[in-house]
Amino acid sequence: MTYSFVSHLYCPKCTKTYNLESTHQLCTCGSPLLVKYNLHLLTQELKPSDLKGRRNDLWRYHELLPIKKEKNIVSMGEGMTPLLPMDRIGKQMGIKQLFMKDEGIIPTGTFKARGAAVGVSKAKELGVKQLAMPTNGNAGAAWSLYATRAGICATIVMPMDAPKITRNECAVAGGNLYLVDGLISDAGRIVAGLVQSSDIYDASTLKEPYRIEGKKTMGLEIAEQFNWEAPDVILYPTGGGVGLIGIYKAWKELQELGWVHKEKMPRLVAVQAEGCAPIVRAWEEGKRESEFWPDSQTIAFGINVPKALGDFLVLEALYETNGCAVSIDDREIVAEQKIIAEKEGTFICPEGASAFVAARKLRKQGWIKDNERVVVLNTGAGIKYPNTVNVEVPILQKGDSIPIRTNI
Ligand SMILES: *Cc1c(COP(=O)(O)O)cnc(C)c1O
Ligand SMILES: [Zn+2]
Repeated sequence: MTYSFVSHLYCPKCTKTYNLESTHQLCTCGSPLLVKYNLHLLTQELKPSDLKGRRNDLWRYHELLPIKKEKNIVSMGEGMTPLLPMDRIGKQMGIKQLFMKDEGIIPTGTFKARGAAVGVSKAKELGVKQLAMPTNGNAGAAWSLYATRAGICATIVMPMDAPKITRNECAVAGGNLYLVDGLISDAGRIVAGLVQSSDIYDASTLKEPYRIEGKKTMGLEIAEQFNWEAPDVILYPTGGGVGLIGIYKAWKELQELGWVHKEKMPRLVAVQAEGCAPIVRAWEEGKRESEFWPDSQTIAFGINVPKALGDFLVLEALYETNGCAVSIDDREIVAEQKIIAEKEGTFICPEGASAFVAARKLRKQGWIKDNERVVVLNTGAGIKYPNTVNVEVPILQKGDSIPIRTNI
């Protein structure tokens, strides 16, 4: 049986197509490229029930991924993360069916591992020896580690104030790491210069077409975990928007396969920080593309992207699914992170917390209705952001006794 049903690459803007044999970056028109599959063939060969008993990671969907030979897979067991019921805060928010797709337990501690696993595997299959990318931290960490596992040399450029742990992850993986006194867009310009004057593969967000396929698997998993029934709403902390584009693509492909209902799409919600909300502004103005957001700032570093290359695809997904876009204040993000840890026992990342605040607000406004089934993506582990929590702990002397307290 064919391992992958991948067919070709195509441009969502000008519809030009590309083969899969050589490396491709952007379309000649400047748009990101997307991957197309032979779904009409696959639908005759594979049924949802065939997935039962397969490996419990994202490679269980290998027919819907672009790697042609199984031997090229670079994996650390990423994917099939739990879909946790969040009953206590759900009750507090008035959302009876609230779930968290928890990406915090994935290798490298964020869902960036999905994009890296598939992107690096495909790079290996294409014979890439060296890649380079700008990052806000988490993607660089994941790509460094997966590249090392694949025997590919990675050059990573990140802002100086990206979380220190991600810097350390890149460094310990042995890649070429540089810090830039600026934003991810500044790092991007430096990487663009490097790849232009060399044959280094550009692994920048959406400048290679395969990362999105890795992130698509979040959508495939949500569908499978709900027994191929769409939830009503999926909230996603949006930076470059790759995950949101991926989830939308997953649903379209599943509809084409006939594995999910043709009419019902989850309403997708792009959540951004108030200090960096280009997608939200564009959505509010009914636009198809976003404008660069100057001096962007937020503690939710993973969503600090002032202008996303795939903004038009994110906005299309919002419009097509009757979704929306919401921005959240950093103080609310930190408060929510604490509430969720206290109520649910899960220490999530600030990006994930922003999406919970958004759920809370949209329920209050009535946009999320009674009895709707809601999924929040927690894109990473709280332990990667130790500085978002301040604690004051009582210190005991040897031999002290502790007063009895109950706090649940
Ligand atoms: C990168 C990142 C995001 C945003 O992901 P995009 O797909 O680029 O929108 C959200 N949360 C965390 C923790 C991230 O690292
Ligand atoms: Zn094009």
